[in-house]
Amino acid sequence: MNNPFQNALQQLERATKLTSFSPDFLKRIAYPDRQIRITIPVKMDDGTLNMYEGYRVQFNNARGPYKGGIRYHQDTDIEEVKALAFWMALKCAVVNIPMGGGKGGVTVNPKELSKTELEALSRGWMRGMSDVVGPQKDVPAPDVNTTPEIMSWMADEFGKITGDTSGAVITGKPIENGGSQGRGTATAQGGFYVFETLREKLGLPEVCRVVIQGFGNAGEHAADIWTKAGHKVIATSDSRGAIRNPDGLDIPALYEHKKATGSVAGFAGGETFDAHELLFQACDLLIPAALENQIQEGNANRIQAKVVLELANGPTTPEADDTLFARGIPVIPDILANAGGVTVSTFEWEQNLKDEHWSEEEVFEKLRVIMDREALEIFEKSKALSTDLRRAAFIIALERIQQAMLEK
Ligand code: GLU
Repeated sequence: MNNPFQNALQQLERATKLTSFSPDFLKRIAYPDRQIRITIPVKMDDGTLNMYEGYRVQFNNARGPYKGGIRYHQDTDIEEVKALAFWMALKCAVVNIPMGGGKGGVTVNPKELSKTELEALSRGWMRGMSDVVGPQKDVPAPDVNTTPEIMSWMADEFGKITGDTSGAVITGKPIENGGSQGRGTATAQGGFYVFETLREKLGLPEVCRVVIQGFGNAGEHAADIWTKAGHKVIATSDSRGAIRNPDGLDIPALYEHKKATGSVAGFAGGETFDAHELLFQACDLLIPAALENQIQEGNANRIQAKVVLELANGPTTPEADDTLFARGIPVIPDILANAGGVTVSTFEWEQNLKDEHWSEEEVFEKLRVIMDREALEIFEKSKALSTDLRRAAFIIALERIQQAMLEK
């Protein structure tokens, strides 16, 4: 498996070749400010004690407090978290929000934990990190396998330790605990605004056949949003299997099936097939919404989509980028396509700090303006430099970070 941080560095090198940055800046931006590893002891329901490893990587805070989610996954390690933290710094700069980049994680399969154990683990992560996070220092959020409920346990733990109960230390909280309207669907919604802005420019039809890899927070909301807008989601998958229907899947019925059985596989309204084949279904728009390194050198030539929109972080390797570019398949990069999540997180942080509550309409209107503007800017940049959208997005983000570092 490709090391995601090596991929990130390769992306950095490839993009910065196209324009001039200060050599010192380029040297500095390849290193995180700080990498924190903690041990989290958890008393299990059966009385035994388990140890888990937790991480926080604070990559860059030139533009504002470190910002980024916390991932719970059995394969998560410090290299992955470092790559994700780097991408967060770029992502926040792409959408021009006053945040830097960070990321956290725990090496754990949360599906094997009871709710009590999960709560103990989450409170333990926050206890171990309480001196390095804070509303003006580092503001975590949800990521793969972490939920609003987990955010609320962590916010509560931080409040108990520090006395700061504003909730602004962490975003993605439940609405009743200081969460923002629209945060749950924001990643998919932001991706949809980008898609709408670029659809015609990228040669996509008015009604698109959409394939979505992953049915977690990003994927399931994307299925709903694209379907409601009149597009057809013809295939999707999760870690247990895949389902397809060329006439379009009935998404509300698929939710019910997933809720009842734990997977999209076996849904009666379609044909269950091998999840490894999901990426290669013929479609207009392919949305990877799962994990890193899915589209690689070995399979990029099998992609049969007209456009790829990355709701996952890092789903395409640099080698695969080249193959897709040569085949004329544009990739709307993660640091633009999935930036709606952190953008609405930042709205949540702002509402907590000011003790305000914005309506869902207000949140989405603000989000739309940002996503439209930055999507167009990146598209224009890619045309001006005759390059792909990822390199264009990297250049715009790095210019903003460099500027902030110079001003400091
Ligand atoms: N985990 C999400 C991401 O990768 C959201 C981060 C945040 O809201 O801070 O962008």
